[in-house]
Amino acid sequence: MKVLAIGAHGDDLELFCGGTLARYAAQGDQVIMCVVTDGRGRPAGDPDQIAALRKAEAQASADVIGAELYWLGVPDGGLWFDESSRHLFVEAIRRAQPEVIITHPPDDYHPDHKTTSRLVMDAAQVSRTANYPSDLPPHRLSVPVAFMDAERGIDFSPEDYVDITPVWETKLKMLAQHRSQLMPHGYDPAYVPPAENEFTHYARALSSFRGLACDLPYAEGFRWWRAANRIVTRRVLPG
Ligand SMILES: [Zn+2]
Repeated sequence: MKVLAIGAHGDDLELFCGGTLARYAAQGDQVIMCVVTDGRGRPAGDPDQIAALRKAEAQASADVIGAELYWLGVPDGGLWFDESSRHLFVEAIRRAQPEVIITHPPDDYHPDHKTTSRLVMDAAQVSRTANYPSDLPPHRLSVPVAFMDAERGIDFSPEDYVDITPVWETKLKMLAQHRSQLMPHGYDPAYVPPAENEFTHYARALSSFRGLACDLPYAEGFRWWRAANRIVTRRVLPG
């Protein structure tokens, strides 16, 4: 199976569905991690240098599970719900030809998350259109779209779960590649984060809480987009 996960920022996919992506990869599925923005906003430093660093970190994280990285390179905070953004998303979906898409829930906290979610839903429909102007072939499959957890799990009630206990260390290893996000005083190439840090705390709290719902040490939760062309009868998340 081909899986396309689209996250607004480098580290979003790892936090909210990194374990699930690791499970897909472990069962032989082809995983594509698509990061929409270029991360130039944080940490403090030369924005072009930071953007290059964030891309290298995202690539290193994808490499942990053998995933392919699509880097859309939209400047941080510069993602708008407009024609050119939607075109970027349509091209990503047509290029990937996925059998399942994972993205943010539509009502998540950050404008980049919300806009990513809305663009995914619209692009998933538009990418089916035969005569849409593109060199890439239409994506005609009925592809389910899963919404991964919301930031800090707020107001998100999962309807489906994936056991990520077997790949817990892999999820942490993916997150650990995003070292720049833990630098407290601006960009410092020599910085080594402590073993217990903001990421490990966040991931453990959220994954343990979702695990609690299904009697597992660690889980990730999802909801489904209920719409035409999105409903299938088979299970598409790792079982
Ligand atoms: Zn984010």
